[in-house]
Amino acid sequence: MSEASDQPEVLYEVEGAVARVTLNRPEFRNAQNVKMTMALDAAYQRAVQDDEVKVIVLAGAGKHFSAGHDIGTPGRDIDKPFGRVATGWYSHADKPGAENLFVREQEAYLGMCRRWRDLPKPTIAQVHGACIAGALMLAWSCDFIICSDDAFFADPVVRMGLPGVEFFAHPFVMNPRKAKEFLFLGDRMPAEEAHRVGMVNRVVPRDELAATVDAMAARIAEKPRFALALTKMAINQAEDRMGLRETMDAVFGLHHLAHAHMALTSEDYIGGQSAKKLKESMK
Ligand code: ZN
Repeated sequence: MSEASDQPEVLYEVEGAVARVTLNRPEFRNAQNVKMTMALDAAYQRAVQDDEVKVIVLAGAGKHFSAGHDIGTPGRDIDKPFGRVATGWYSHADKPGAENLFVREQEAYLGMCRRWRDLPKPTIAQVHGACIAGALMLAWSCDFIICSDDAFFADPVVRMGLPGVEFFAHPFVMNPRKAKEFLFLGDRMPAEEAHRVGMVNRVVPRDELAATVDAMAARIAEKPRFALALTKMAINQAEDRMGLRETMDAVFGLHHLAHAHMALTSEDYIGGQSAKKLKESMK
């Protein structure tokens, strides 16, 4: 089986002051390979450098926002080399043992998500359908999350032997006790519950989702660019002073201890899990 289409991994369009960035592997529920990561980063940079753009919206094409990192589509590219933009690390591609994955994820996941979280323009994640594991990192690194009532969120990676996805914001986007439930059970959190715990800003009917996001983006876009950038920095700095950044650095070490442990004791670094097995085990 080959990649089903020659479509770009990410679509980019600008309307007025709003750039719309759309994950575009709908045939694979927008599973994120590194090709998509780099395309997403390029789209974000394009929006940042365009003075006409005031707000950036991230959405997903097809039935779901995203099923997370690509762990099994024909376009999976985990062993391929790619450029570094978020960190100063060298290529992971030809490295042995734990070095390979540590170096790869430092750039492709932790580094990239931090870079996106700190983009100097407001970002809104427009989430519908599934938002699973690695997809949480894309949504969480946006400033707002607006979702439809059919959206659901899950981090099932404890089943892979891992203490949560790489961008470890769990105890910050919900309270710590809820974060334990979210991880220990690894089940789907429906949109309404995600709203109740403070992880998403608004829940709207599916057919009103895009219009709600557009209206909110338009209102934000009325504000001065520099004031928006400074306000975003202020809140992000507050979160970092509450421990977000240091927590992520510490947990990244645990995450890679877990990958190494699984590589030593099971069939692979994610305990032989697949997208299908994860889907079947989630409530
Ligand atoms: Zn990992």
